[in-house]
Amino acid sequence: MSANVKANITHVIFDMDGLLLDTEKIYEQVYRGLIEKYGKTYPFELKVNCMGRKASEAAKVIIDHLSLPISIEEWLEVSQKAVLEKFADAKLLPGVDKLIRHLHKHAIPIAVATGSSSTNLKVKATHHGEFFSLFHHILCSGDDPEVKRGKPNPDIFQIAASRFNGETPSPEKVLVFEDSFLGVEAAKAAGMHCVMVPDTRLDRKYTKSATVVLDSIEDLCLTDWGLPSFTDT
Ligand SMILES: [Mg+2]
Repeated sequence: MSANVKANITHVIFDMDGLLLDTEKIYEQVYRGLIEKYGKTYPFELKVNCMGRKASEAAKVIIDHLSLPISIEEWLEVSQKAVLEKFADAKLLPGVDKLIRHLHKHAIPIAVATGSSSTNLKVKATHHGEFFSLFHHILCSGDDPEVKRGKPNPDIFQIAASRFNGETPSPEKVLVFEDSFLGVEAAKAAGMHCVMVPDTRLDRKYTKSATVVLDSIEDLCLTDWGLPSFTDT
Protein backbone atom coordinates (compact mmCIF):
# COMPACT_ATOMS: atom_id res chain seq x y z
CA MET A 1 0.00 0.00 0.00
CA SER A 2 1.27 3.46 -0.81
CA ALA A 3 2.03 5.57 2.23
CA ASN A 4 -0.04 8.51 0.98
CA VAL A 5 -3.40 6.80 1.41
CA LYS A 6 -5.17 8.51 4.25
CA ALA A 7 -8.79 7.83 4.86
CA ASN A 8 -11.08 7.77 7.82
CA ILE A 9 -13.40 4.95 6.89
CA THR A 10 -16.61 4.44 8.87
CA HIS A 11 -18.51 1.96 6.65
CA VAL A 12 -17.34 -0.93 4.45
CA ILE A 13 -19.11 -2.52 1.47
CA PHE A 14 -18.04 -5.82 -0.07
CA ASP A 15 -18.61 -7.28 -3.49
CA MET A 16 -19.37 -11.00 -3.29
CA ASP A 17 -18.39 -13.05 -6.37
CA GLY A 18 -14.63 -13.36 -6.70
CA LEU A 19 -14.13 -11.17 -3.63
CA LEU A 20 -15.78 -12.89 -0.66
CA LEU A 21 -16.61 -16.16 -2.39
CA ASP A 22 -14.58 -18.09 -4.93
CA THR A 23 -17.51 -18.21 -7.38
CA GLU A 24 -16.01 -16.45 -10.41
CA LYS A 25 -14.39 -19.74 -11.42
CA ILE A 26 -17.83 -21.35 -11.48
CA TYR A 27 -19.30 -18.67 -13.75
CA GLU A 28 -16.28 -18.88 -16.03
CA GLN A 29 -16.46 -22.67 -16.32
CA VAL A 30 -20.19 -22.68 -17.05
CA TYR A 31 -20.12 -19.76 -19.48
CA ARG A 32 -17.14 -21.24 -21.32
CA GLY A 33 -18.88 -24.60 -21.67
CA LEU A 34 -22.00 -22.95 -23.03
CA ILE A 35 -20.07 -20.77 -25.49
CA GLU A 36 -18.00 -23.72 -26.74
CA LYS A 37 -21.20 -25.51 -27.71
CA TYR A 38 -21.51 -22.85 -30.40
CA GLY A 39 -17.92 -23.41 -31.55
CA LYS A 40 -16.67 -20.17 -29.99
CA THR A 41 -14.22 -19.35 -27.22
CA TYR A 42 -14.63 -17.18 -24.10
CA PRO A 43 -11.69 -14.76 -24.10
CA PHE A 44 -10.61 -13.32 -20.76
CA GLU A 45 -11.15 -9.76 -22.04
CA LEU A 46 -14.82 -10.60 -22.56
CA LYS A 47 -15.07 -12.04 -19.05
CA VAL A 48 -13.61 -8.77 -17.72
CA ASN A 49 -16.52 -6.95 -19.35
CA CYS A 50 -19.04 -9.30 -17.72
CA MET A 51 -17.73 -9.63 -14.17
CA GLY A 52 -19.80 -7.62 -11.72
CA ARG A 53 -22.75 -7.21 -14.07
CA LYS A 54 -26.24 -8.49 -13.40
CA ALA A 55 -26.69 -11.91 -15.08
CA SER A 56 -29.07 -10.50 -17.68
CA GLU A 57 -26.63 -7.71 -18.61
CA ALA A 58 -23.68 -10.13 -18.79
CA ALA A 59 -25.75 -12.44 -21.03
CA LYS A 60 -26.44 -9.60 -23.45
CA VAL A 61 -22.76 -8.61 -23.57
CA ILE A 62 -21.69 -12.19 -24.36
CA ILE A 63 -24.41 -12.92 -26.91
CA ASP A 64 -23.83 -9.64 -28.75
CA HIS A 65 -20.05 -9.87 -28.69
CA LEU A 66 -19.91 -13.47 -29.93
CA SER A 67 -23.06 -13.26 -32.12
CA LEU A 68 -24.45 -16.38 -30.44
CA PRO A 69 -27.69 -17.78 -31.91
CA ILE A 70 -29.45 -17.84 -28.54
CA SER A 71 -31.82 -15.44 -26.78
CA ILE A 72 -30.97 -13.79 -23.46
CA GLU A 73 -33.82 -15.75 -21.85
CA GLU A 74 -32.47 -19.09 -23.11
CA TRP A 75 -28.94 -18.22 -22.00
CA LEU A 76 -30.17 -17.31 -18.52
CA GLU A 77 -32.22 -20.47 -18.19
CA VAL A 78 -29.42 -22.83 -19.22
CA SER A 79 -26.58 -21.04 -17.41
CA GLN A 80 -28.61 -20.51 -14.23
CA LYS A 81 -29.35 -24.21 -13.93
CA ALA A 82 -25.68 -25.09 -14.42
CA VAL A 83 -24.27 -22.56 -11.95
CA LEU A 84 -26.81 -23.42 -9.25
CA GLU A 85 -25.59 -27.02 -9.25
CA LYS A 86 -22.11 -25.80 -8.32
CA PHE A 87 -22.75 -22.82 -6.02
CA ALA A 88 -23.39 -24.83 -2.85
CA ASP A 89 -19.70 -25.80 -2.78
CA ALA A 90 -18.50 -22.17 -3.00
CA LYS A 91 -15.62 -21.41 -0.63
CA LEU A 92 -14.63 -18.16 1.09
CA LEU A 93 -11.48 -16.60 -0.33
CA PRO A 94 -8.30 -16.29 1.81
CA GLY A 95 -8.39 -13.65 4.55
CA VAL A 96 -12.11 -12.94 4.14
CA ASP A 97 -13.43 -14.75 7.21
CA LYS A 98 -10.85 -13.14 9.51
CA LEU A 99 -11.51 -9.62 8.14
CA ILE A 100 -15.31 -9.81 8.34
CA ARG A 101 -15.25 -11.20 11.89
CA HIS A 102 -12.77 -8.51 12.92
CA LEU A 103 -14.85 -5.62 11.51
CA HIS A 104 -18.01 -7.08 13.01
CA LYS A 105 -16.34 -7.46 16.42
CA HIS A 106 -15.31 -3.80 16.29
CA ALA A 107 -18.85 -2.72 15.31
CA ILE A 108 -17.77 -1.34 11.92
CA PRO A 109 -20.94 -1.40 9.77
CA ILE A 110 -20.43 -3.81 6.86
CA ALA A 111 -22.64 -4.70 3.90
CA VAL A 112 -22.56 -6.77 0.72
CA ALA A 113 -23.40 -5.23 -2.66
CA THR A 114 -23.54 -7.82 -5.42
CA GLY A 115 -24.85 -8.09 -8.97
CA SER A 116 -26.08 -11.55 -8.02
CA SER A 117 -29.75 -12.40 -7.47
CA SER A 118 -31.09 -13.22 -4.00
CA THR A 119 -31.95 -16.73 -5.25
CA ASN A 120 -28.33 -17.37 -6.19
CA LEU A 121 -27.10 -15.83 -2.95
CA LYS A 122 -29.14 -18.33 -0.92
CA VAL A 123 -27.43 -21.23 -2.67
CA LYS A 124 -23.96 -19.67 -2.51
CA ALA A 125 -24.46 -19.14 1.24
CA THR A 126 -25.48 -22.76 1.84
CA HIS A 127 -22.46 -23.44 4.06
CA HIS A 128 -21.87 -19.82 5.10
CA GLY A 129 -25.13 -18.75 6.73
CA GLU A 130 -23.55 -17.62 9.99
CA PHE A 131 -20.84 -15.72 8.09
CA PHE A 132 -23.37 -13.77 6.01
CA SER A 133 -25.41 -13.00 9.14
CA LEU A 134 -22.53 -10.75 10.28
CA PHE A 135 -23.35 -8.17 7.59
CA HIS A 136 -25.75 -5.35 8.39
CA HIS A 137 -27.44 -5.91 5.02
CA ILE A 138 -26.95 -7.64 1.68
CA LEU A 139 -28.00 -5.89 -1.51
CA CYS A 140 -28.58 -8.23 -4.47
CA SER A 141 -28.95 -5.94 -7.46
CA GLY A 142 -29.87 -8.92 -9.66
CA ASP A 143 -33.42 -8.55 -8.34
CA ASP A 144 -33.42 -5.49 -6.08
CA PRO A 145 -36.14 -3.17 -7.45
CA GLU A 146 -34.32 -0.01 -6.31
CA VAL A 147 -31.14 -0.70 -8.30
CA LYS A 148 -32.07 0.11 -11.88
CA ARG A 149 -28.57 0.19 -13.37
CA GLY A 150 -25.87 -2.36 -12.57
CA LYS A 151 -22.12 -1.85 -12.19
CA PRO A 152 -20.22 0.17 -13.57
CA ASN A 153 -22.94 2.67 -12.59
CA PRO A 154 -22.59 3.89 -8.99
CA ASP A 155 -26.21 3.10 -8.00
CA ILE A 156 -25.55 -0.20 -6.23
CA PHE A 157 -22.98 1.28 -3.83
CA GLN A 158 -24.96 4.48 -3.24
CA ILE A 159 -28.08 2.50 -2.38
CA ALA A 160 -26.12 0.03 -0.22
CA ALA A 161 -24.62 2.99 1.69
CA SER A 162 -28.10 4.47 2.22
CA ARG A 163 -29.32 1.27 3.92
CA PHE A 164 -27.06 1.39 6.96
CA ASN A 165 -28.67 2.52 10.20
CA GLY A 166 -28.76 6.27 10.70
CA GLU A 167 -27.51 8.85 8.23
CA THR A 168 -26.06 7.78 4.91
CA PRO A 169 -22.27 8.02 5.28
CA SER A 170 -20.54 10.47 2.95
CA PRO A 171 -18.84 8.62 0.08
CA GLU A 172 -15.27 9.36 1.17
CA LYS A 173 -15.97 7.55 4.45
CA VAL A 174 -17.01 4.38 2.63
CA LEU A 175 -14.52 1.70 1.57
CA VAL A 176 -15.53 -0.74 -1.16
CA PHE A 177 -13.82 -4.10 -1.77
CA GLU A 178 -14.00 -5.31 -5.36
CA ASP A 179 -12.35 -7.83 -7.67
CA SER A 180 -13.87 -6.66 -10.96
CA PHE A 181 -13.00 -3.76 -13.25
CA LEU A 182 -16.66 -2.74 -13.56
CA GLY A 183 -17.13 -2.86 -9.80
CA VAL A 184 -14.14 -0.62 -9.22
CA GLU A 185 -15.50 1.84 -11.79
CA ALA A 186 -18.84 1.81 -9.94
CA ALA A 187 -17.15 2.57 -6.62
CA LYS A 188 -15.15 5.38 -8.20
CA ALA A 189 -18.28 6.82 -9.80
CA ALA A 190 -19.87 6.81 -6.34
CA GLY A 191 -16.87 8.77 -4.98
CA MET A 192 -15.88 5.94 -2.63
CA HIS A 193 -12.45 4.49 -1.91
CA CYS A 194 -11.86 1.07 -3.38
CA VAL A 195 -9.52 -1.79 -2.52
CA MET A 196 -9.24 -4.01 -5.57
CA VAL A 197 -8.23 -7.67 -5.32
CA PRO A 198 -8.19 -8.59 -9.00
CA ASP A 199 -7.90 -11.88 -10.86
CA THR A 200 -4.19 -12.51 -11.38
CA ARG A 201 -4.77 -12.52 -15.16
CA LEU A 202 -6.20 -9.00 -15.21
CA ASP A 203 -4.21 -6.42 -17.18
CA ARG A 204 -3.15 -3.62 -14.86
CA LYS A 205 -4.77 -1.06 -17.16
CA TYR A 206 -8.08 -2.19 -15.62
CA THR A 207 -6.98 -1.44 -12.07
CA LYS A 208 -6.23 2.27 -12.42
CA SER A 209 -9.43 3.52 -10.74
CA ALA A 210 -8.77 1.51 -7.58
CA THR A 211 -7.36 3.38 -4.58
CA VAL A 212 -5.24 0.34 -3.75
CA VAL A 213 -4.61 -2.98 -5.54
CA LEU A 214 -3.83 -6.08 -3.46
CA ASP A 215 -2.89 -9.65 -4.39
CA SER A 216 -4.98 -10.91 -1.47
CA ILE A 217 -7.23 -9.55 1.26
CA GLU A 218 -4.63 -11.00 3.62
CA ASP A 219 -2.33 -8.13 2.54
CA LEU A 220 -4.73 -5.42 3.74
CA CYS A 221 -3.37 -2.78 6.13
CA LEU A 222 -6.40 -1.73 8.19
CA THR A 223 -4.81 1.24 9.92
CA ASP A 224 -4.19 3.00 6.58
CA TRP A 225 -7.97 3.31 6.42
CA GLY A 226 -8.46 4.47 9.98
CA LEU A 227 -9.84 1.04 10.87
CA PRO A 228 -8.84 -0.93 14.00
CA SER A 229 -5.88 -3.24 13.40
CA PHE A 230 -6.04 -6.96 14.04
CA THR A 231 -4.01 -6.47 17.21
CA ASP A 232 -6.58 -4.06 18.70
CA THR A 233 -8.84 -5.72 21.22
MG1 LIG B 1 -16.87 -9.63 -8.10
